Amino acid sequence: MKPAPFAYHKAHSLDDAVALLAANKDARLLAGGQSLIATLNMRLSAPSMLIDINGIGGLDGIALENGMVKIGALARHAQAERSDVIAQHAPLIARAMPHIAHVAIRNRGTLGGSIAFADPAAELPACLLALDGEVEATGPKGKRTIKAADFFKGLFETALSPDEMLTAIRVPAADEDTRIGFAELARRHGDYAIVGLAATARASGKGLSDVRLAYFGVGDMPVRAKKAEAALEKGDVEAAVKALDLDPQDDVQATAAVKKHLAGVLLRRVAAQLTEAR
Ligand code: FAD
Repeated sequence: MKPAPFAYHKAHSLDDAVALLAANKDARLLAGGQSLIATLNMRLSAPSMLIDINGIGGLDGIALENGMVKIGALARHAQAERSDVIAQHAPLIARAMPHIAHVAIRNRGTLGGSIAFADPAAELPACLLALDGEVEATGPKGKRTIKAADFFKGLFETALSPDEMLTAIRVPAADEDTRIGFAELARRHGDYAIVGLAATARASGKGLSDVRLAYFGVGDMPVRAKKAEAALEKGDVEAAVKALDLDPQDDVQATAAVKKHLAGVLLRRVAAQLTEAR
């Protein structure tokens, strides 16, 4: 299929993009196009205008700033995959990255696009939630920061207003006590997950504290499993599995019952990873 007709504007600055968004409320930003173009071609979305943000300079940086790793919205997945800053200071994102689609898609797709698109089966939204990260949004009134826990609102829905653009994400830099875990089950490597789990914790004596488990593929947005987190902090993996109170729906990939079972399988794998020093 071909998309419905749309106007095309190439933004040359952030101000330019924000002004175009404010003036055209049903416009869509075009970043890597890896999700957007498919939705246009299938006519799941028919915006009157595309605002291409690929020409905006300075939005693709990845840097350590004040104890946080800041990733510009236009950083490509492939760039993050090769980044020493990500490898050293945001190891959960480094571990998730190879699971996102395939090389050709990672060469074009952006981290900003992935977070803004908010696909419930995508890896990065769950990583952002597990890391207690935040989103920087820029609109006509300037910049604001939105915590990951407040950012994902539902199926492909976020806290961004129609005239705001995601300009960066920030996650706390890992230190020697940071522990991470990541696992997903997909039919083929690179497919969207049937179920996935991104997790962080802090090493505390012989155990763990501050466990954060963020599941993806089990709801209409990434979800924390707080009762299971509490059980893992007590060192009881089987109690954590029993405490999982996820409420997945059947979908084209698996039934709710299968997803619940797989969530427990992943939890055991991730719990083992969380006990390993980095
Ligand atoms: P685009 O497609 O350009 O945009 C997506 C949406 O986000 C649009 O609505 C757009 O307006 C909006 N948007 C983009 N940037 C911004 C911004 N800065 N501020 C506000 N809104 C913005 N993803 C996964 O996570 N896991 C997978 O396993 C996976 N598998 C895939 C398999 C295939 C075959 C394909 C084609 C894609 C797959 N993807 C997967 C999606 C891929 O990761 C995309 O790159 C990503 O979801 C969107 O990034 P993008 O830069 O391409 O965004």
